[in-house]
Amino acid sequence: MAKPVFLFTGFEAASPLLWDVTAESVEIQALHDHERGSSNRQASHWYFEIRGEAGQRVRMRMLPLENIYGGHRAHFLREGLTSVYSVDGKVWSPVTFAHHPDRSLSLDFTLPGAITRFSLVQPYTTADLSGFLDRLKKSPRASFTEIARTAEGRPVELVTLSAGKAKKSVLLRARAHPWETGGSFFLEGVVQRLLDTPTGGAILERLDFHLIPMANKDGVVRGMSRFNPLGADLNRNFRPGFDHAAQGAPENAGLLAWLTAAEKAGRLPSFALDLHNDQEGNLHLSPDDGKGYRERMLRFDALLREYTPYREGAKDGAASGTFGDGLLSMFGIDAAILELNAQWLEGKQAVPLAGHWREYGSGFVDAVAKFLGA
Ligand SMILES: [Zn+2]
Repeated sequence: MAKPVFLFTGFEAASPLLWDVTAESVEIQALHDHERGSSNRQASHWYFEIRGEAGQRVRMRMLPLENIYGGHRAHFLREGLTSVYSVDGKVWSPVTFAHHPDRSLSLDFTLPGAITRFSLVQPYTTADLSGFLDRLKKSPRASFTEIARTAEGRPVELVTLSAGKAKKSVLLRARAHPWETGGSFFLEGVVQRLLDTPTGGAILERLDFHLIPMANKDGVVRGMSRFNPLGADLNRNFRPGFDHAAQGAPENAGLLAWLTAAEKAGRLPSFALDLHNDQEGNLHLSPDDGKGYRERMLRFDALLREYTPYREGAKDGAASGTFGDGLLSMFGIDAAILELNAQWLEGKQAVPLAGHWREYGSGFVDAVAKFLGA
């Protein structure tokens, strides 16, 4: 490269990384976050800013990266990995890196401006969350509960949308894993459907919605991939007797306290999803409860195909104490993990951006209303 570029990561949700400018390229390596009490480590995204000159040619190389989960090593940089970039932080466009035999990625790119941001998925930060919550605060249908404080003292909000008449409710959680922003946009779509459309308003007469929009807020702020800063995986260890507060997950301790109180009051949600991103996009089912869970969830799978761009299908989850496993086994809630494919939305034949996830969330409202007979 004629002139070196500068990589800037001094902003919220930017991913920690190592970088180096060589004669040919800028070489980038995302840094792992680590799980407490295991060898697990994960770096599964990037979000950074390139500063240079408009029109400047830049070759970016993402260096090979090995994650560890459950003792297994796996390469993160797969063929066909897409990314998005933006010059204004508002409009994002997809771009695909070339994959090489050494498991690195590269991209030859002409900088469209002095500042260009690259992210694996369209970013959604606590500033976006504040806008979302401000908008909800204007609605007479919305009420707010602080279910926990993160390790760093940030509030974990639970928003209830209710017309005060429904007997059943749905619980949705996003951002247990910080980089997975699809769930945040999905929840925006849920809210738009319920508050901005007459038919959505009619659904809200019969069904309440509880939303946890950003569970792992510390991880989001720090640009982490999977864990929280204390090394807890917020989508694990949902089993009786596990002390989430003592094990670095006050976010989950707060959620379980809220569920326990709802159970005592006879107001447990009937249905719950934990929203994630991966490179597959499946609905991950919990082990069957012997009371028809699996059959019911396959009916939900069919409704989700009918009302949303979801085409990827249901499969058996890892049965590893996920949100879905725990809420079913501990509280009898029809619960699952919905992975949103971060790379490709089959039902839209597109690299997914915010609008696609909002549309997915909006359609989910109809699917779950039908599922619960509401
Ligand atoms: Zn996840």
